[in-house]
Amino acid sequence: MRFDIITIFPHILDSYFNESILKRAQEKKFISVHIHDLRIWTSNKHRTVDDRPYGGGPGMILKVEPIAKALRAIKRKKKSRVILLDPAGKQFSQQAAKKYSKLDQLIFVCGRYEGFDERVKKYVDEKISIGPYVLSGGELGAMVILEAVARLKAGVLGNAESLQEESHLIEGYIEYPQYTRPEVFDGRRVPSVLLSGDHKKIEEWQSRKRRSSIF
Ligand code: SAM
Repeated sequence: MRFDIITIFPHILDSYFNESILKRAQEKKFISVHIHDLRIWTSNKHRTVDDRPYGGGPGMILKVEPIAKALRAIKRKKKSRVILLDPAGKQFSQQAAKKYSKLDQLIFVCGRYEGFDERVKKYVDEKISIGPYVLSGGELGAMVILEAVARLKAGVLGNAESLQEESHLIEGYIEYPQYTRPEVFDGRRVPSVLLSGDHKKIEEWQSRKRRSSIF
């Protein structure tokens, strides 16, 4: 699967993509990540991507032309989607991650400053928020969505079984609590059933804990 991120701060994302699971996933060609500097698609000497809003108001907004040009230039695969990161968009969820993981390409448009010229909407498929709060830019949102989607792609996680029991697998599902050594820490013991070796009882306990987290 191919991911494209359009941003005015292309290096803000470098280190995250060059470590751990996402690095390995790229090396093994399960995913590819392409980061694009929006300024490439400007035509003026100062490579300006923003301007003052008509009608006044604080701050600057991102211009529509470079974004429209960027989206025209970035190669589209057949099954692709363009996401505009926007705090006023539809809230991202695990169910959306599952839907996106069936695509061949996801393209993210990251905002900055006061956001975008409204006409950008015509060039994107949906506006997505990663939560009801405001960040300074869309890059973290793109990264959150990319990671949630990439780990659902075959091969990206070393152990695909990890996906079968995860929280939010279905809406409201929360994984059961887990423990590792030592058996006692600071007076708190690992539940004895987990040390019993009785697999049936362990499964019952896990299923009880899992359900009690939902309801
Ligand atoms: N003036 C905008 C408003 O009130 O809705 C906020 C703009 S915000 C400071 C700048 C950019 O950060 C946005 O255009 C968007 O790309 C990104 N951003 C901020 N919060 C976000 C969120 N919760 N989810 C997704 N993107 C977000």
